[in-house]
Amino acid sequence: MSKTHAVLADLAVADDCLLIGDMPVTALADRVGRTPFYAYDRGAITARVAALRAQLPEGLALHYAVKANPMPALVQHLAGLVDGLDVASAGELGIALDTPMPPRQISFAGPGKRAAELARAVAAGIVVSLESEREMRALADIGVAQGRRPTVAVRVNPDFELKASGMKMSGGPKPFGIDAERVPAVLRALAALDLELVGFHIFAGSQNLRAEALIEAQGHIFALAYRLAEQAPTPVRTLNIGGGFGIPYFPGDQRLDLARVGEHLSERLAEARRRLPTVRVVLELGRYLVGEAGYYVCRVVDRKDSRGTVFLVTDGGLHHHLAASGNLGQAVRRNYPVIVGNRVRGTARERVNVVGPLCTPLDVLAHDLEMARAEVGDLIVVLQSGAYGLTASPTAFLGHPPPGEVLV
Ligand SMILES: *Cc1c(COP(=O)(O)O)cnc(C)c1O
Repeated sequence: MSKTHAVLADLAVADDCLLIGDMPVTALADRVGRTPFYAYDRGAITARVAALRAQLPEGLALHYAVKANPMPALVQHLAGLVDGLDVASAGELGIALDTPMPPRQISFAGPGKRAAELARAVAAGIVVSLESEREMRALADIGVAQGRRPTVAVRVNPDFELKASGMKMSGGPKPFGIDAERVPAVLRALAALDLELVGFHIFAGSQNLRAEALIEAQGHIFALAYRLAEQAPTPVRTLNIGGGFGIPYFPGDQRLDLARVGEHLSERLAEARRRLPTVRVVLELGRYLVGEAGYYVCRVVDRKDSRGTVFLVTDGGLHHHLAASGNLGQAVRRNYPVIVGNRVRGTARERVNVVGPLCTPLDVLAHDLEMARAEVGDLIVVLQSGAYGLTASPTAFLGHPPPGEVLV
């Protein structure tokens, strides 16, 4: 490997073949019966949750943000490991409700919730994160109509930004949450409605690898929560502080220093228990729980030399894995870690472009990347593909079949 990559060093390999859940990827491909497919390693997910629990303070609740990967079997597996599920649509809510997770431990965020979605949420008895005043009033009306008291949290659009975040979702004007400065007035209006307020939801951003940036944001989040708690009509029972923990994708990316974040959260949690004695603090993570446990596996269909550049044309591409193609929010396209699954090190190596079958120059899985020399029939594996993979991809684009999806 020409450049150090945190991920490539940690791969499980036997006879130069990648192992996924202790199974050679070639055997797994036979078992699935076709390529391309996504494979998620349940043991890796279990180990990730255990590693988090070991570093995070006791009593800090851990929720899974289903948006990162809504595969029902995977959500089912995680439901047995975490303390709650956060969903962002009625579709995800249905998946969450099929698990044994108690409804009170399921929360529903996301702008523009429609009346039918809110009605299902109220009937299910889950917690709705209010994203606007309209939503608050609509929910109260639905509660009256159903004869049930809706449970809500106020999602706050904070007055600060998460620095060095892959995707900023707070600070300045945003469609997410209610602007922090408007929250006191909203709480007064809420007190007059038949809604049960459990607390606040403050999510500042995603894909952050820098412990200092997360620590700084968490400091702001707790400070904001204490200010808002003074205005709340009832004691705060839930404070969802978001997450934003990132995973390494690109050469040179350093793994997040979880121990540092955990130490800081211990102090914050101790303080929170003094200041808000009834509070349950929730960390909600998507990508960090599942991203590294997922693999996208496709097969080389053609090997072409165009004016001195080798193109491996595979049966998989951006229609299944938009993020790896660089078209999901990347300003500059960089390669995900991509390997030849059945020749991880290889006897010969070369620089190649890996492309998909779509008739567009956007369909690139790797550009000018050094890999083992691959032949037609070999398996190409995109690592770090467990989060925002299939779920964030335009599967209808060009009419190819959808990929398989397995939990192993
Ligand atoms: C997307 C999202 C998450 C998950 O973010 P990750 O970066 O995958 O951990 C959590 N909470 C909210 C409100 C989100 O919108």
